[in-house]
Amino acid sequence: MNIDKKLVIIGGGPAGHSAATSAARRGIHVTLIEREILGGAAHLLDCVPSKTMISTGAAMSFTNSLSGMGLEEREAEVDVDALTSRIESIKSRLSTDVSSLLESQGVTIIRGSARITSVHAVHVDCADGSQIDLEADDILVCTGSRPRIPEWVHPDGDRILTTRDCYPPRIFPESVTIIGSGVTGVEFAHMFASFGSKVTLVVSRQQVLPGKDPEVAAVLEDSFLSRGVRLFKGARAIAIEKTELGVRVVCDDGRSSETTHAVLAIGSIPNTENLGLEEVGIALDGGYIPIDRHCESNVKHIYAAGDVSGKLPLSSVASMQGRKVAEQVVGGPKGPHRHLDYDKAASAIFTEPEIADVGLAEAEAFASGRKIRVTKVPFSSTAKALINNDPRGFVKIISDPATGEVLGGSIVGSHAAELISVIALAVTANLKVTDIEESLLVHPALAEALAEAAE
Ligand SMILES: Cc1cc2nc3c(=O)[nH]c(=O)nc-3n(C[C@H](O)[C@H](O)[C@H](O)COP(=O)(O)OP(=O)(O)OC[C@H]3O[C@@H](n4cnc5c(N)ncnc54)[C@H](O)[C@@H]3O)c2cc1C
Repeated sequence: MNIDKKLVIIGGGPAGHSAATSAARRGIHVTLIEREILGGAAHLLDCVPSKTMISTGAAMSFTNSLSGMGLEEREAEVDVDALTSRIESIKSRLSTDVSSLLESQGVTIIRGSARITSVHAVHVDCADGSQIDLEADDILVCTGSRPRIPEWVHPDGDRILTTRDCYPPRIFPESVTIIGSGVTGVEFAHMFASFGSKVTLVVSRQQVLPGKDPEVAAVLEDSFLSRGVRLFKGARAIAIEKTELGVRVVCDDGRSSETTHAVLAIGSIPNTENLGLEEVGIALDGGYIPIDRHCESNVKHIYAAGDVSGKLPLSSVASMQGRKVAEQVVGGPKGPHRHLDYDKAASAIFTEPEIADVGLAEAEAFASGRKIRVTKVPFSSTAKALINNDPRGFVKIISDPATGEVLGGSIVGSHAAELISVIALAVTANLKVTDIEESLLVHPALAEALAEAAE
């Protein structure tokens, strides 16, 4: 089926390539413009390289604790060159896969930098020096984001780093101060600690992971403290000075941390400059493009998805938004349909222990006065956790006491990011705790804790 409509997509990250393949499959003529690498910052700079390093760090921790598995202890050591080529090969494999998929769906890919010149036109400065003007029925902007750098920090790529300067790793810092204790900050603290760096984490509030379940944050804090990570709670970094050792991060409460390196992890800002957005009438909000439930901006036919939309900065959300845009440009959903509900997005934090959650949080329910039922089961009650020699963590399910409907949950422990899918499905499909409880699950498996928590 060919639909005589042209969709031009600016940015080939998760939002852009999902929208492209999904729209092309529906018969739309799709052109995608990417100025760097297909797969986006997610593959090149953020999600994939950080998770690759975290997974190597986890292998190292595992190897260094083999006696618990009945094996002789061995000291694993990092091979920086091998790790670098591992990261590079994963990145290029994923990018090639995206490119092949787009080509197989008939998407036209243009390498270059694009900007909107009118509601139905896009100009591209191509990588080969040429220029192209494209016509479009609809335009999707999904140009992603980049690390936020406050004016008092001057990253030099050597001692003062943004998260994007950390890989491929040239060396591993002997000691590092991480500024910021949100998801990225704690993941980097965990990552460097697993490779043996002495880590100090500057935590501006009284708990790491502000906004997350305090019980979950407490487990992570305990794990950090037991691994020698210093936590500067209630401290805001206000300056970074160069010293003989490396850097000194100065905090507003008078404390300071002197380490060989400092890493900035205080959020991101959207890539919405020089795209011609204001010129076509798009009203930005703090640099983000406000969107409606169909991901359409205030200007009809111009959509935004992914980090630029200011919703949840997650690859998974970006991809889903991209698919929703594709659905919308062919005239809206056909058949049964669910609007994107950002409150039901599952997310994970790849630390030690791993953390994942979805839907309503306990604290949120108490704050709103909503009656909930909370059931919590430790992994230590499952045979699989003992077999894996890792009985830490728990599963918590939050449900409606009157109807049994699953409203949310959190998981702390091995494979939390995989296991949360069960609760995420239940939350999205309005399933009841009995639906989980009555599922015939595998034994021995960590998922048995889910069934128990659902009882
Ligand atoms: C350290 C870190 C770790 C993360 N880990 C996770 C994780 O584990 N799980 C998760 O779900 N999310 C994770 N994220 C978030 C995730 O990376 C982003 O939410 C995701 O990349 C957003 O996708 P996107 O399509 O909006 O943008 P991007 O992936 O940033 O892609 C945007 C693309 O647009 C291109 N572009 C920009 N401007 C132009 C232009 N003018 N013309 C042409 N092309 C242009 C860029 O080159 C880029 O390739 C992490 C983020 C960080 C910082």
